[in-house]
Amino acid sequence: MSIIDLRSDTVTKPTPAMRQAMTAAEVGDDGYGEDPTVNRLQEMVAHLLGKEAALFVPSGTMANQLAIRCQTQPGDEIICEAASHFLDYEGGGAAALSGVSTQPLQGDVGVITAGQIQEAIRPATFYFPRTRLIVLENTHNLAGGTVWPLAKIQEISALANAHGLRMHLDGARLWNASIASGVAPRAYAAFFDSVSVCFSKGLGAPVGSTLAGTKEFIETARRFRKMFGGGMRQCGMLAAAAIYALEHHFERLREDHAHARTLAEGLAHLSPLKINLNSVQTNIIKIAVADKQVDCRAAIAALKEEGVWVTPMGSSSFRVVTHLDIAAGDIARAADIFKRVFSQSSF
Ligand SMILES: *Cc1c(COP(=O)(O)O)cnc(C)c1O
Repeated sequence: MSIIDLRSDTVTKPTPAMRQAMTAAEVGDDGYGEDPTVNRLQEMVAHLLGKEAALFVPSGTMANQLAIRCQTQPGDEIICEAASHFLDYEGGGAAALSGVSTQPLQGDVGVITAGQIQEAIRPATFYFPRTRLIVLENTHNLAGGTVWPLAKIQEISALANAHGLRMHLDGARLWNASIASGVAPRAYAAFFDSVSVCFSKGLGAPVGSTLAGTKEFIETARRFRKMFGGGMRQCGMLAAAAIYALEHHFERLREDHAHARTLAEGLAHLSPLKINLNSVQTNIIKIAVADKQVDCRAAIAALKEEGVWVTPMGSSSFRVVTHLDIAAGDIARAADIFKRVFSQSSF
């Protein structure tokens, strides 16, 4: 029985063609700025995001943490949505590496408003932390891969400009947002001083993220990348995978979105599952088990027994993510297995 791994879009394996591109990559020592493939990727991403420069880094976490480190001082404060990736899944990096505090605001499917932010900006009094940076996440991971409306970002950007605040976009899945909305990555990026993007999620590369911004910002980020231990040498082989992913796996994200939609609609009326179809906008489905009598952990274990792997989120819900290695047939099979497992009342 083949496994249908729906835990995350990070589980994809490089395709044979991607591996070929990696083996064939021209490389050099990126410590000297001499890896032509890395340079090509950085130029490509800077262009896609409409920024002056970009920097290849090992992970999305490093990209976000560099953005924070470069744009804050210890004692500064970041305003963000309460379920942001950089708050929950980056090891407390903002506090540890940049010495900043955060002011998390409760969002609606990951979206916070300019009004909320306005209230949260600290007056310039000596005893307050200094509000310095706004971090937004698009798509929003924990909200279920939800897409930011451009108009809301525009309002926040105007507020940030009025208060001299910097804006960082955690765009690990900006590619998904762009495919779902039809808004170009650079149209989103235009409202931010810095943008991070990942190649190892939906795009299917084994490793790698990129941070983009002004030339000056990227030179500062290069210094901190070294300090954080992220300086690399002949990493053109990894950059080649990212370039291949951008060229061949970007447009096809719409297949992942269609798969998620099909599965979500197929399961929406299956008791005791509860799915908010409005929040299924890209490749992530959040599924709650609405019946307190049903042991969600046992149900997840039963799904696994049948070959469907999902990620538990708390004690009564789980997450399903579609990706490059999931075909339409897997979706149909997964839907059948869900129906079989949840029609049993043994947990
Ligand atoms: C995956 C992800 C990141 C980067 O996480 P890594 O584990 O460093 O790859 C950053 N932000 C969001 C929203 C993510 O989903």
